[in-house]
Amino acid sequence: MQQARHFIDGQWCDDGQWADSRDPANGELIGRFADGGEAQAQEAVDAAVRAFTNPQWSQNPRLRQQVMLDWAAALKSREDELTILLTRENGKTMAQSRGEIGGAISEILYYAGLARHNPGHVLEVAPGEFSTMLREPAGVAALIIPWNAPAVLLVRALAPALAAGCTCVVKPAPQTALFNAAFLAPLLELPSLAAGVVNLFAETGHAGAAFLVTTPKVDVLSFTGSTATGVRIMQDAAPTMKKLSLELGGKSCCLVLEDADIGAVAMKLAAAATIISGQQCTAARRVLVHASRAAQMKSALAVALAEIRLGHGLDAATQMGPLIDLRARDSVEQRVREALDICDEVLLGGGRPRGMLDQGAFLAPTLIAHQDSSAFFCQEEIFGPLLVVETFEDEAEAVARANHSEFGLSASVWTRDGACALRLARALRNGTVWINDHNKLFAEAETGGYRKSGLGRLHGYDALLDFTELKHVYQNVGSL
Ligand code: NAD
Repeated sequence: MQQARHFIDGQWCDDGQWADSRDPANGELIGRFADGGEAQAQEAVDAAVRAFTNPQWSQNPRLRQQVMLDWAAALKSREDELTILLTRENGKTMAQSRGEIGGAISEILYYAGLARHNPGHVLEVAPGEFSTMLREPAGVAALIIPWNAPAVLLVRALAPALAAGCTCVVKPAPQTALFNAAFLAPLLELPSLAAGVVNLFAETGHAGAAFLVTTPKVDVLSFTGSTATGVRIMQDAAPTMKKLSLELGGKSCCLVLEDADIGAVAMKLAAAATIISGQQCTAARRVLVHASRAAQMKSALAVALAEIRLGHGLDAATQMGPLIDLRARDSVEQRVREALDICDEVLLGGGRPRGMLDQGAFLAPTLIAHQDSSAFFCQEEIFGPLLVVETFEDEAEAVARANHSEFGLSASVWTRDGACALRLARALRNGTVWINDHNKLFAEAETGGYRKSGLGRLHGYDALLDFTELKHVYQNVGSL
């Protein structure tokens, strides 16, 4: 049985309240985690405020780099056990868990390097008058992390925050609280990490998270989650004017041009739609295909999706695991049923698999076709394995359809015509556009959303901007 406690001000702790963590593939109990709330959030924030006053952290980039290098090395030695725990708690396949943990370790190394390269600039604005622009850590950063990729999405917020010199409070999702505690333990237990620099608490409710948003003691709030919660956070945070980093929902369109190799593209789109059982913000949701290739695309996608093998993530043959829990399965299933009732064409019915998997939160992929892009299932983020096919006659219609969305997280373009690909990529209102690929995310490449997909960028150098303030120091030294 795994067990996870809070870590506040340099100590593992709990107040006797516990919650269970269950395997979404079969309902088995995996372990239990300390279930906190506002009291733990307050203690964690106070510890982070105290730790931030110590220049031996906030002004010591070489120490911060070393801490991150030591964390990465310790994770490397625990990679196998962490991979299994991630698959058991989240449900994703072992290959996906292994890839995510490897990517997260690589990302820690990337920000360890950047800890030592966060330069401002100096200008001589008039003879002897110097303006020094200093990039300073913003202060206390609170990070609310989701369950769908709890290693990478933790690291892409925590590592730049640490590189910048912030002190942090991490609030993981309850669905992956065991994994997040195990992944953070080798960092939290480093002798070189002073008490209060990184704090962790989990909760099944929202009172602690809400406190992080409203307290003026938190300087940066970084949230990855749904747009609805992001809107609420923006409203609740407004009186404090804290910096917000919001990585929210998406509805990725995949534009398939007339010249594309439909068989090969369909295979890739089926994988892009079912990654983490369709529970990835950038997952393929709408396939916009040139009308002349629509029939071929519909049948190729239906075959590719029908062949995906569902099962427990620990089973090497599994290509798609369960959804995160029964509640998520039920709400996705409900929206899919409503879509099936009103769509133009049902190409693959999906639904719950029978037999061995009926104890788990499984849902097989659904494929439908529909022309009216204002339908709820073309507009709303449905966080599961549902894919919609639409057709277009020309490039302008493809772009107009894709941009008909309140989201703007990511899209992909599939064609052999390089100029066409770049033309469409430029016209799409999205933070990321892939050409002849989908779901390619890197530590080095900034990711974020246009419109209701969010504010700010994580990954890449620009993630540091979310966790820094720019200070102007002026001095007139005169001239000789
Ligand atoms: P969610 O919006 O339900 O977020 C749940 C989290 O919000 C929990 O940690 C909860 O404690 C916290 N919360 C709830 N109410 C709050 C409040 N009033 N104040 C502060 N915090 C509050 O999202 P989810 O189901 O956990 O994650 C799925 C969503 O995340 C999808 O919409 C997906 O697109 C999005 N996502 C986005 C990205 C990205 O990079 N843009 C990446 C992964 C996931």
